[in-house]
Amino acid sequence: MTTDIADILVRHDRAEPAFGPNAVSICGCGNDWPCDAYRAATEAQRLVAALAAISAYHAQTSGSGYTAHGWGGMESVCEVCGTADEYGQEWPCHTRQLAAAALKEKP
Ligand SMILES: [Zn+2]
Ligand SMILES: [Zn+2]
Repeated sequence: MTTDIADILVRHDRAEPAFGPNAVSICGCGNDWPCDAYRAATEAQRLVAALAAISAYHAQTSGSGYTAHGWGGMESVCEVCGTADEYGQEWPCHTRQLAAAALKEKP
């Protein structure tokens, strides 16, 4: 997904630098720069970065919490959901799963 965005940004990069107060920059596709494709790719890139940051924030750690066998140590809990050392939430948590699904990555 990020590769597709990078490709679009390269293909729709500014072809000619603008000079002067009324100069218009032209995109490689022939439209005024930034063209719609460049703007859309930049927006997508910003959203992908936000999802990646959310995913990274919900990192995996070990802790303790309630499982089917009662309270005890848990191998895989979310660092920020619940309280890792007392009420650990199993990792990948829902937030991590949703962010990973949107990024088309494994949680
Ligand atoms: Zn373009
Ligand atoms: Zn989480």
